[in-house]
Formats: sequence, C-alpha cells, structure tokens
Amino acid sequence: DTPAVEAIVTSDVTVPAPLPVLGTDVAVPLADGTEIPYAALDYAASAPALRRVWDDVAAYAPYYGSVHRGAGHLSRLSTDLFEESRRTVAGFLGCREDDQVVFTRSTTDSLNLLATALPAGCEVFVFETEHHAALLPWGRTADVTVLDAPRTPVAAVAALEAALAARDETRHALVCVTGASNVTGELWPVPELAAAAHRHGARIVLDAAQLVPHLPVDVAALDVDWVAFSGHKLYAPFGAGVLAGRADWLRAAEPYLAGGGATRRVARDGDGGVTVDWNTDDSRHEAGSPNVIGAYAIASACRALTDAGFEHLAGREQVLLGRLTAALGELPRVRVLSLFGEGAHRVGVLSFVVDGYDSADFAAALSDRYGIGVRDGLFCAHPLVRLLTGADGGDGCGEGPLNAVRVSFGAGTPQEHVERFV
Ligand code: PLP
Repeated sequence: DTPAVEAIVTSDVTVPAPLPVLGTDVAVPLADGTEIPYAALDYAASAPALRRVWDDVAAYAPYYGSVHRGAGHLSRLSTDLFEESRRTVAGFLGCREDDQVVFTRSTTDSLNLLATALPAGCEVFVFETEHHAALLPWGRTADVTVLDAPRTPVAAVAALEAALAARDETRHALVCVTGASNVTGELWPVPELAAAAHRHGARIVLDAAQLVPHLPVDVAALDVDWVAFSGHKLYAPFGAGVLAGRADWLRAAEPYLAGGGATRRVARDGDGGVTVDWNTDDSRHEAGSPNVIGAYAIASACRALTDAGFEHLAGREQVLLGRLTAALGELPRVRVLSLFGEGAHRVGVLSFVVDGYDSADFAAALSDRYGIGVRDGLFCAHPLVRLLTGADGGDGCGEGPLNAVRVSFGAGTPQEHVERFV
C-alpha cells in the first residue's frame, strides 16, 4: 500500500542474471492452495549450492578412491584432486607461501581447532558481537577478554587498541573478529584491526563465514594470520570448511584429532605404550579419512566465483541490496538493525524487526503466503541481537522477547526474489 515501495518494485532497473543454483525450481505450496517457486533468502544460514559445483561433484563422484593411502589409479586421482583443492583454496584466499590450508567440517570446527592450537598462556580478545562460533571456543583453552560492542568501525579499532595496550605483552595473544556480521551484514575494519593486533604483538583470525561468499578475501593483503569459513555458505554442500593461515602454531600444537592420516610413524615404546611422530604439514589436523568431496566442492565453488568475477557479483548484490534497503526505509514500522549506523557498508545480509509483529510469525507468513525462506531468531549471536533489538535493558544479559527477521542473498539470487520480498 506504499506508493514509494511500489515505485521501487516496478522501476525498470535490470539486475544481471544470477549464477545458476539448486533449489530455485522447487514449488512451495502456499496457504491459499496455489504454488510458487521457492525464493531462498536465507543465504547467510546456508547458501544454495551452485549448479556448477553440483555438476563438478557429480562428474567426479563415481570415480573417487581413497586418498593418501591407495596405490590404485583412482586413489591417485582422488589424492591429486584433494591436494589440488587445497592449492585452489590457498590461491582463492591469497594465502602466503608458507600458510597451511586445513580442511575442517565448518567455520565452527575451524575456530575450535585453532582454539586447541593456542600456545600455553594465550589470551584471546573478542567482541561481544561475534557469532557464537567465534565467541565461545576460546574459553576452553585461553583467558578471554570480551570487548563491548563498538558503535562505529573506528571505535572498534580504538577499543581493540586500548585492550591490547593494557595486556602483558610477554604472553601470546589472539584477536578473533568477523569480516561481515551475520546479523547486520555490516563490514568490520579488518585491515585496521589486523594492524592494531600486530602493533601489540598479537595474532588475528578472521571469521570469514559471511565475507567469502560476498567479497574477495586476500589473507596476505588483509594481513590476517588465519581465516576460517564454511563450504555450505560458499555455494558448496554441507560438511566441509577451511582453516587457512600461519603454520607455526598449527605445527606446534597437538593434532586436533588423534588417528591415522596425521601420523608419520607410530611404534611401540618399549613400556607397553605407543609413541607417535605426527605430520607437520596441513594433514596434521586432518586425522581420519578426509571429506574429499567436500573439499573438492569448496574448490569448485572458489573457481566458479573467480570465473564469474567478484566485482560483477558484488556489484549486482549491491543493486539488490539498494532496492531492498530503499523499500524497507519507506516502511515506518520496519526497523533495520545496525551496529555501525548511517553509512555502514554491508553485504547482502540484513535483519529487521517489524513493530507490532512477532518475528517468527512474520517469517512464517513470508513462507506461507509468498514462498520466501528467511530466518528469524537471534542468529547464534545472542548478545548482539539483544543489544540491537533493545531487548537487553542495556546490560547485554536480558532475556527480552525481541527476535529479528533476517533476509540474506547472494550470487544465485534473481531480482524477482528480492522484489517479491519487497
Ligand atoms: N561465523 C559466522 C559469522 C556465521 O554466520 C556462522 C554461521 O552462521 C558461523 C561462524 C558458523 O558457521 P558453521 O555453522 O558453518 O560452522
């Protein structure tokens, strides 16, 4: 009923075609008995796999053999593809020559792995705004300082700088920060935070779960020590993730998992036990038979995004985002959640609350009436969502009732999906 919104939907901007993804032809039964093609606007949770990734995996899957241990032709082929996938990912991330690329299960797994690899006496600095995967792993192995939510990128750097300046520099330290928020989609000042960390002798790991699907990540140029992400948010299937970066802490740490594949030599020790000589390369933390297809799929997604061109993909995403934010801005009962406020840059991830509506009802109605899949809730970032919805009474601890709705999209999103949502 809002003419300005109507004008946005009917204006004749044409967004370039999306990359083909799975699931766009799924028919959703609507409450009125009709059907409509599914509109996936929940990319931040899991992005639909690219059709090219699916095709690549299907072409390879019938032929795979065991990796690293088999002498047969297909084992050698699989081993080559697995190791080539590692190199593809390293190239995609702009890794330094001596960086390692460890295949994990997910971002959560990658950050937990790094938490087990921290040197003794390490301190970890993390903002309260992080996804739980980046907020929670450290308390098990390190002393953690949780920093209050900064309200601008400049304030984030200043807060980190102040916290690091006050630390005992004889101890090892790690900063963990997100590249793009899974709640607001807002970009964090990663190069500046990395520089601040290094100025104070700390290391930094980038949670790139919401960054890699939207913008190029260059580990060397950003000067981050590690980067973590998940395949299922990067248009590949579930079950594989990456931790890439500095080899020294990874090499010095006990293997994440104990078992075959991570060992050079295992022998009886003469006292009735066994001694183990662990690998020091990327496989040190990959014990057990690896998820070869998952790694191969991630590498395929990296190639597909590179071929499509990030500039092009990010450009079309920003056009869609502009139409979405312009439309939401016309609706007085809609409040878009933002930590950094006016002028903040964001990727195609945006959360909001609607005055007078329960977010779960709102999200359910989007599905039942329009065939649109979004997410509602606190998005595994409880302190941040409570802060932004005003449900925390200012202390970050409240159990307030406000959840939010999150709409998120990317390289596979057609213009029609965003317009249907608007
Ligand atoms: N970090 C961020 C910013 C995320 O958005 C997510 C997932 O939503 C994660 C980490 C955890 O990813 P995964 O569930 O694949 O381990």
